[in-house]
Amino acid sequence: MSSTFSELGLSQPVLRAVEKAGYESPTPVQAQAIPVCLEGRDVIGASQTGTGKTAAFALPIISKMTPGITPQCLILEPTRELAQQVEEQMELFAYYRPMNVVLLHGGVGYGKQNDGLTNNPDVVIATPGRLLDHMERGTLKLDRVGFLVLDEVDRMLDMGFLPDVKKIIDRCPQSRQTLFFSATMPGAIQTLANWALKDPVEVEIGHRRSPAETVTHAFYPVAMDQRDDLLVALVEETHFDSLMVFTRTKKEADSLLVKIKELEGAQPAALHSDIRQSDRTKALQGFRDGTFNVIVATDVAARGLDISGVTHVINYRVPENPEDYVHRIGRTGRAQQEGDAFTILTGDELDFANAVEHFIDQKIERKKLDGFEYVYTALLDDDAKPLRKKRPPPKRRRR
Ligand code: AMP
Repeated sequence: MSSTFSELGLSQPVLRAVEKAGYESPTPVQAQAIPVCLEGRDVIGASQTGTGKTAAFALPIISKMTPGITPQCLILEPTRELAQQVEEQMELFAYYRPMNVVLLHGGVGYGKQNDGLTNNPDVVIATPGRLLDHMERGTLKLDRVGFLVLDEVDRMLDMGFLPDVKKIIDRCPQSRQTLFFSATMPGAIQTLANWALKDPVEVEIGHRRSPAETVTHAFYPVAMDQRDDLLVALVEETHFDSLMVFTRTKKEADSLLVKIKELEGAQPAALHSDIRQSDRTKALQGFRDGTFNVIVATDVAARGLDISGVTHVINYRVPENPEDYVHRIGRTGRAQQEGDAFTILTGDELDFANAVEHFIDQKIERKKLDGFEYVYTALLDDDAKPLRKKRPPPKRRRR
């Protein structure tokens, strides 16, 4: 496998942009996918989040693009945040080969998007719903698309986008190159891939179902009425630089935001679909630049978001969908960094916990938080080990 970008066959402007981005060597998904993308083959990439898959498709596409065909590349993403993030990366990689990129997603007006579409975009990055709106309004045609990227396909299907995605694929020319990425590959996704791709090369990195290998993860069993107290104690006791807390509902996210705000040293923001798009962008931006060090989020934020340097993830509840577990804890340990992920487990969630363990084919360690005054629950009999503090305990106290 190639250990330098220059061996992969990328164009000079792209190689310079990669150098500017500070990437020294390709990640495994890049080393495998880039040469086959450059050959023009369709690709199915089963790659965990944080493995560098955006560059794996963006770099070869930018290398191969021909000026003047619009739009030549369509990238479908499940969420607005992901679409924005991919746009930022495309701009970075296209630094020495300028191109017009237009971003189409819901939650904002049409004016800027219409302007972008009249400006002969080379690349369209879109969520399925808004893309179809534009097609119905006649502001966008896909008949010149030569590169189609379906990113985070499992997530798009979970969100009910399958009919939209099929409609969109149908409107693209048959003679196109299709790149298909999904962290997990259940049967429905394989069926879609069989329909949308021609003789694809499969690029599979690591175990499809395993969490990122650089993440240490554990369950923290507790009695149901101590869930909030344990969450607060975990936040207080953990020496995090940046923490994502995942909840099942928007209401839980809002109520935890209030509790975490009380903690010294914690600057939290919330991220869920009832929060205005402009505030969601502010929350993410603030988390990236360090204004906020905690994000309390529902699943909308869980997948694929490239937030570098997340040191810890706490699941307030065991995710109902085992794939979400892999995605959520994938927020830490991105691009070879280490991270810790804690999942609070109560008696009513044992089935979900079993489903997660079955899905990742791994028993997840049960731990206890040192110094926390547990009330008895049978879950604690499960020889839970005390959490060993790796670093000195922080001096965070309630204000
Ligand atoms: P992705 O899986 O595309 O969301 O990428 C995860 C993170 O890894 C992003 O912050 C990328 O900028 C970073 N990254 C991607 N490829 C490389 C590479 N070859 N070397 C270093 N960092 C990378």
